[in-house]
Amino acid sequence: MSIDITLLLRENIRNLKPYSSARDEFSGDAAVFLDANENPFNTPWNRYPDPHHRQLKERVSQIKKVLVSKIFLGNGSDEPIDLLFRAFCEPGKDNVVSINPTYGMYRVAADTNNIEVINVPLGIDYLLDTEAVLKAVNSDTKIIFLCSPNNPTGNALDHKSMMHIITEFKGLVVVDEAYIDFCPEKSLLPLLDHHSNLVILQTFSKAWGMAGLRLGMAFGSPEIIEVLSRIKYPYNLNILTQHKALELLANEQIKSKWVTTILKERDKMVKNLLTLPFVIKVYNSDANFILVKMDDPRGIYNYLVEEKIIVRDRSSIALCKGCLRISIGSPEENATLIEVLEQLV
Ligand SMILES: *Cc1c(COP(=O)(O)O)cnc(C)c1O
Repeated sequence: MSIDITLLLRENIRNLKPYSSARDEFSGDAAVFLDANENPFNTPWNRYPDPHHRQLKERVSQIKKVLVSKIFLGNGSDEPIDLLFRAFCEPGKDNVVSINPTYGMYRVAADTNNIEVINVPLGIDYLLDTEAVLKAVNSDTKIIFLCSPNNPTGNALDHKSMMHIITEFKGLVVVDEAYIDFCPEKSLLPLLDHHSNLVILQTFSKAWGMAGLRLGMAFGSPEIIEVLSRIKYPYNLNILTQHKALELLANEQIKSKWVTTILKERDKMVKNLLTLPFVIKVYNSDANFILVKMDDPRGIYNYLVEEKIIVRDRSSIALCKGCLRISIGSPEENATLIEVLEQLV
């Protein structure tokens, strides 16, 4: 679907001129900087960070094989999620369509921006119901949110089904790929150039082990990325995050090693859980967590808390009755969980 982004934008955003910081007007090398009212002492944290994250974007561009003009970097993925609402959805008028259950931040960002969320339940085995999603769309729908692999269900959504939605829908389709490092072959990123209404979210919070740094990515057409960059806080990524991320991104092998270990541990965890009599079902996962259906999930959750092990109780969420969500930890942590659960038998 080739769409005109300017027509989708809110009118105030279409007309908005961004704040111009001192570092926007001059960004080259100089010996003396007297343009930003900074403290000249206390090097190096006394200077404002690069508002355009040039070095970091170059590195992300290499790793992801996406042009710099198609990359937005934010304070976690949560920042681009909020910015997409603010750029494209008119409060009190527009709506978004979201699968259900899914990641909670879409709703929080929607509520904050006074945007209605139209929920479309996933089908059997948490499969994407393409027709139901397209049917839920009306003339005020600006964005469809998909999450693949989906949180909290763990499954990646079917490629063809997502592509069908992307080609049929005349607004934006946001595909949240926070867990894609655990199933890289299922990413839609290679198709980005062919679909001007596609926005892909990824993050360094999961496989890359940088949740504490707060660094998320949005990939989209240069027109969409320009809008997000125009409305973000000028200095949304601080110097510590930019420097540390660059340092950590130099080592891609360690990320791959972690992913391999976690996937192996996930298989082991599934096998071990299935031997427990109170475990009813372990759902298929493409991510670093599993959704487990069991008898008395709340009782088991409370028991685990007493044993100082915290999992996520998802049993009150739509289509997740009886389910706990368990992150895959280190081999030692996973062994501890299984040991503690076996004591119940
Ligand atoms: C964890 C998670 C994120 C990551 O959010 P950050 O703000 O980048 O830490 C995004 N989407 C989903 C579905 C997640 O589960």
